[in-house]
Amino acid sequence: MKSALISVGTELLFGQITNTNTVYLSQQINALGIDVLYHFTVGDNPDRLEETIRIALDKCDLIIMTGGLGPTQDDLTKEVVAKVMNKPLILHRPSLERIEHFFNKINRIMTENNTKQALLPENAVIFDNDAGTAPGFALEIHDKIIVCLPGPPREMIHMFSKKVLPFLEEKSHHVIYYKMLRIFGLGESALEDKLKDMITEQTDPTIATYAKEGEVAIRVTSKRQNHNEAKSSVEGLVKAIKQRVGDYIYSYDDEELVDVVTKKLLAREISISCAESCTGGLFSANLTDIPGISSVFDRGLVTYSNKAKIEELGVNELTLDKFGAVSFEVAQEMMQGLRRATGSRLCVSVTGIAGPDGGTDDKPVGLVYMCAMLDDHKICKEFHMRAMSRSWNRNYTVLLMLDMVNKLLDQNVD
Ligand code: ATP
Repeated sequence: MKSALISVGTELLFGQITNTNTVYLSQQINALGIDVLYHFTVGDNPDRLEETIRIALDKCDLIIMTGGLGPTQDDLTKEVVAKVMNKPLILHRPSLERIEHFFNKINRIMTENNTKQALLPENAVIFDNDAGTAPGFALEIHDKIIVCLPGPPREMIHMFSKKVLPFLEEKSHHVIYYKMLRIFGLGESALEDKLKDMITEQTDPTIATYAKEGEVAIRVTSKRQNHNEAKSSVEGLVKAIKQRVGDYIYSYDDEELVDVVTKKLLAREISISCAESCTGGLFSANLTDIPGISSVFDRGLVTYSNKAKIEELGVNELTLDKFGAVSFEVAQEMMQGLRRATGSRLCVSVTGIAGPDGGTDDKPVGLVYMCAMLDDHKICKEFHMRAMSRSWNRNYTVLLMLDMVNKLLDQNVD
């Protein structure tokens, strides 16, 4: 099946908003094994919208449109789709009742133009909007399908994942199975190099690599007649990938590094504390984002100044004078002081230069020292980041800390 996406909205053409819907939908539809051939973006203009739909219909079997389903004058997606597909718009009572109920619930008077949202093409499959008012729909005529979804990303994603995905899965006559592997510590090009032959020879399963912020993900996808076949072909390839780059894979289930780490801490009931300098509490903030972490997270100390490092962690003034706050020795003393102060089984410390100022030839921006200790097992490391920006350096440092803790928890220390 070949598909096209049409995003409707003049604000997209002005560059006032970023077209995030297309990114999401392209990923989802490709994962279903449906090829996405075109992305169209068109303003709120009925003639150009009609022309775009006709071009897309000529080239593709499936068209997914977002935006222009609302109550206002310039929302005209439905009207134009109904015209192109030669179907009248008729009042869909259940949708009207849902919209009335929505306004009652939020205690607002429903204006007349909201009724317009319940006018839908005859014979369309209706997708209720559980996150807003405008319903979506699919219209199928002569082997061509047009799916229309609301523009606001929250509403669109909710409707797509809950209603449209099962609808499309049924249409695609294939079963798609995939695994998303998450990698840290190996760049996208280095990863592709290690998997070059697999990527070149791929037919089914397919391998796709994605660069995320500071990380890489690999998606292994198979499209087969039945679930078991698709699953076993994906698992076979995942095994082969593991043999080559398994040391860098921290999740086989598309989890975030912080989720992987905190799951292990919680399952093994390992108490943790951290002493942060350059990250200013970001590591603690990441951990405490996880529900239930209070049973293992003791404290996070932000020891930014030398004074704080001395007073809170007992770092030796002489060590600070001799080696400087950003040094291997200070990171180590911070960790030891943290252990003394907290008794936590896992203690993590970090000190570095986040930039943009403060770097020298000897100690440039992006230089970071971190230590982690689990019971008696210690690791201390020096890292040099690419010094992209202060916030990138700080966020990446947190990932490095999480990776270090993860390796320590696996006792997979180099
Ligand atoms: P509404 O019921 O809110 O009128 P709608 O289906 O008519 O929904 P639009 O009016 O086209 O949708 O868009 C509503 C808002 O959704 C836009 O102002 C914008 O913030 C967001 N939006 C629309 N299309 C996109 C897109 N492709 N990517 C990201 N955001 C979008």
